[in-house]
Parts: sequence; C-alpha cells; structure tokens
Amino acid sequence: MKRLTILGSTGSIGTQTLDIVRQNPEQLEVFALAAGKNVQEIELQAREFKPRIIGLMEEKAARELKQRVADLDIEVVSGMEGLLRTVTDEVPDTVVTAISGRIGLEPTLEALKAGKDIALANKETLVAGGDLVMRTAQRLGRTILPVDSEHSAIFQCLEEDPRTLDKIILTASGGPFRGWSEEQLQEVTPERALQHPNWAMGAKITIDSATMMNKGLEVIEAHHLFHMEYDQIEVLIHPQSVIHSMVQYCDGSVLAQCGRPDMRLPIQYALTYPTRWPNPFERLDLRGKTLTFFDPEDYNFPALKIAYACGKRGGTLPAVMNAANEVAVHAFLARRVAYLEIIGLVDKVCSEHDVLDATDLETILNADHWARIRTEELIHG
Ligand code: NDP
Repeated sequence: MKRLTILGSTGSIGTQTLDIVRQNPEQLEVFALAAGKNVQEIELQAREFKPRIIGLMEEKAARELKQRVADLDIEVVSGMEGLLRTVTDEVPDTVVTAISGRIGLEPTLEALKAGKDIALANKETLVAGGDLVMRTAQRLGRTILPVDSEHSAIFQCLEEDPRTLDKIILTASGGPFRGWSEEQLQEVTPERALQHPNWAMGAKITIDSATMMNKGLEVIEAHHLFHMEYDQIEVLIHPQSVIHSMVQYCDGSVLAQCGRPDMRLPIQYALTYPTRWPNPFERLDLRGKTLTFFDPEDYNFPALKIAYACGKRGGTLPAVMNAANEVAVHAFLARRVAYLEIIGLVDKVCSEHDVLDATDLETILNADHWARIRTEELIHG
C-alpha cells in the first residue's frame, strides 16, 4: 500500500490523482490532502477518502472546513505551517505536488527532507529552485518522478546509460493562437485564452500554454530533471498532442512516447513506477490520424526565447521570470493587463534583475518576492 499526501487536491491534477486512487483502493491510500481555499470540494474529498490531515492555506477556509468535518476524525491545519505538516508526517511515502505556482517550493523541499518521494506536477518549483531541489533529492537519496506529460514521456523513453542520450525533443501543441497576427492577439480575452485545443487544465497553466511560457517552464524543468544542457533540449510544435515527447540517442535512434491527451496516464505512472498497472482509460487509436510537426522558430513565441535565456543564465533569474509570469498571468485573468502585456512584463522584470547564485531557499524567495513587487509596480504604471 502506498500512502499519499496530495498538495493541490482540489485542482485539475489533484482531482485526477484522486481518480487514480479511487480506481486502485488496494494499492493507494490518501493520508493527507492540501489546497488553497476550496472548502466545498475538499469537504467532498474528505468524506470520500477519509484523510487523516487536511491543510488549507487560507485560515478562514480552514476554520470553516473544521466545522464542516467536525463529525469526521480529521485534523484540519492551515497556512504554510499546515501544508508542511501534511508532507512531513512520518506516514506518507509519496507527496504529489499538484499545487499551482512557486508556493510549492517549500513543501517540496520539506517533503524531501522528511524522506518522501515526490510525484512532481508543480513545474514552477523546479523553475524557481531546480538546483536546490535536485541537489536535496540527490543528497538524501529521494526520487522525483515527473507527472508533466512531456517529462513522463521522456522518462519512459530513457535507457539505462544517460551518456548515450543526444537530445530531448519536447513536443508542444502550439496553443490556441499559433500563427495569429499581433492585431488578433491584441483582442484576446481571458475567456478565449482559457480554451485550450487539446487539454483541460487549471487556469494558470492554460494561459501559460497559450503564451508558450508553459513550454519555456518545461524546458527548464527538463534541464533539472534529466541533467541536460539547454542546447540538448529542443522544442517541436506538434498540434495533435499524440506524441508527448521524444529522446534521440547518440546513434540517431529516436524513441517517442504516445498516448491520448489524458493526464491520468502520467499521474498513474508516477505512482506505480517501476511497474505499470492496467486501467480502463480510453486507448489511443492512430487509424486515420495525421501527425504534423513544425519548428517554433517559424512563429513568434517570445516567451520560449526568454525562458531559454533565463535558464541558460541560471542563478535567481528563472525564479524571477517565473514570479513575474505568475503575477502577470493572474493580472490578465483579472483583466488588469492585456494578453500581449504578459510576456512584455516578464521580459522587463527579468532585464532589471541583478542575478545572484540560487544556492539557498532564502535567496530564491527574496528574488521571487522582488519580482512580484516589481511586476505589480509596472502594472500600476
Ligand atoms: P489548478 O489551478 O487546477 O489547481 C491548483 C491547486 O493548487 C488547487 O488545489 C488549489 O487550491 C491549489 N493552490 C493554489 N494556490 C495555492 C496556495 N497558495 N496554497 C495552497 N494551495 C494552493 O492547477 P493544475 O492542477 O492545472 O496545475 C497544478 C500544477 O500542475 C501546476 O504547476 C501546473 O503547471 C502543473 N501541471 C498541470 C497539468 C494539467 O493538466 N492541469 C499538466 C502538467 C503540469 P484551491 O482550489 O483550494 O484554490
């Protein structure tokens, strides 16, 4: 029996993780759940999965939940301290990090220190603190298994000897606005940007997919997870999202992992590795399908270029890029900035940052904090 803490249980990845638990009650058990403030959803989860602890970031929401689940034997905790409590208890074996945003960095580090393995969906954590997180995992002999479909694909294609690997080819759908003119992009509303052609996901990652910042974050995530140099990580536009990513070996052989666009598959693999479990999910049917591929260079995706540059420069710059992007995306969703301003803000904040070595958590959080304030200042003009 594998015992789980699921951070971000009320979100898109969190609820799909619970679906996997629901289908495998003999092998998986929920020890703790954590989220931001969605009391209604987490109460339903509490009644179905009977976790021992629930952490909610928002104090008020935690107080309300405590009253609602008073008939159950559940400890309700709140704030960052509460979230850390759900990951550091001795019971869980694996922590699924499905929180959205850099807020996942501290719980991920504390979970590693408490001896937990990580099923990582929360890519912002690796973008902001990749060196620190990977070093901590290595030092303590813990495993970080990717949940992101592209990184799961790469992981599934990897052979024993990493030295034979030439490059990673990350596929990208290209989002809903590939080939759109600047004039068309000026009119993009949050409602329009939230319609992804292939995947149903949380709001933040859906906007990141539209701007292609999501692929930029994934390039940095791949650099850390697979110890690859940036010039060994290539992005290829593949609008059908059938091939989830590929690897090329030193003899020219290319291995690809394919599947339907269903996140439950990579989530399940991160929980069952090194074995595979059967499931009732719909199967990929390639008959009649045409697969196409394009060079992102043929399109105007400034976010991807910024992410490569920030990743290569390293230090605190990726954390700053990520923080500025988080603020700008939330401002766009709140109609405080236009779609085209998102990446402009990220670029400006990155260009103003004095980069430091990102060797410790405090330096990373300070850079993150500075970037958030600076982005807000620029938004207020
Ligand atoms: P959602 O927006 O659907 O869910 C986010 C979850 O995080 C919710 O449970 C939310 O709680 C919680 N949360 C948000 N802010 C806080 C906070 N400050 N403190 C505690 N909990 C918080 O996101 P997704 O599931 O789409 O994405 C989660 C992560 O997985 C992201 O890093 C994303 O990039 C990554 N990912 C997602 C994929 C997908 O298909 N969705 C694919 C690959 C990666 P509440 O609802 O209570 O506010």
